[in-house]
Amino acid sequence: MNFITRFAPSPTGPLHLGHAYSALLAFDMARAAGGTFLLRIEDIDQSRARPQWEAQIYDDLRWLGLDWPAPVMRQSDRLTVYRATLERLWQMGVLYPCTCSRRDIEAAASAPQEGGAPLVGPDGIVYPGTCRPSAPPSRAMPEDTPLRLDMARALDMVAPPSFRETGAGPEGESGTIIADPAAMIAGIGDVVLARRGMGTSYHLSVVVDDAAQGVTCVVRGRDLFEATVIHVLLQGLLGLPVPEYHHHRLIRDESGKRLAKRDDARAIALFRAEGASPDDIRRMVGL
Ligand code: GLU
Ligand code: ZN
Repeated sequence: MNFITRFAPSPTGPLHLGHAYSALLAFDMARAAGGTFLLRIEDIDQSRARPQWEAQIYDDLRWLGLDWPAPVMRQSDRLTVYRATLERLWQMGVLYPCTCSRRDIEAAASAPQEGGAPLVGPDGIVYPGTCRPSAPPSRAMPEDTPLRLDMARALDMVAPPSFRETGAGPEGESGTIIADPAAMIAGIGDVVLARRGMGTSYHLSVVVDDAAQGVTCVVRGRDLFEATVIHVLLQGLLGLPVPEYHHHRLIRDESGKRLAKRDDARAIALFRAEGASPDDIRRMVGL
């Protein structure tokens, strides 16, 4: 099988050392396998995406010595594809509308009958199910309304999500990973698949696009390991192939703290301005 991987940054700030590591590792893996390295711009959050950051991404990656086939897939161009996918899931009866605010969810999740402290999963507080209908909605899918995945109903329709991990999760998980449906219901819950004002979500778009681009190995940071079972569940529901996953270590600062998106002090552009070479960047991230 031909190896296809991708780097999928969001143009919401400068690329930092963590991004450089992820992109270089994916590029090196593709080259070693005689495969393909793709770039995808994940700009579904139009309130935060900026053309200047997208331009800086191309510039920084080229400077690092990477190249990729054109045209670059841009998620903001694919809203009709996401909409059609949501429509399919709606027809399957695994989606429901929910307009609860974060505050509503916090209040409901910490109500005394819920047992006090709210449970936190990969998407934040586990949704307490306030709006979940007892039967799938029979009406047409509403426009411009946030939609959640009925996790229990979805898991009932497919085999337990499983995938091959060629890197490692936070606890060293590797090899064949098989999700425990009960743990997904309790610890992840009904995630949002169509966000307010976006018409999609990270989980939905990443699954649809990895399949559309024929990605065979997803290389990304270990912080996304817990979300992977959600992606594999969606692949199962949609009849999409399950790629291999390679979750890599995270680049940390001197104090051991994980680099955040807003950690502009580690921006590649800054190292460039200070005269660092691409090889210096490779050394800094241990490649
Ligand atoms: N767009 C995501 C990010 O910037 C990465 C998504 C992925 O690699 O699955 O963190
Ligand atoms: Zn709700």
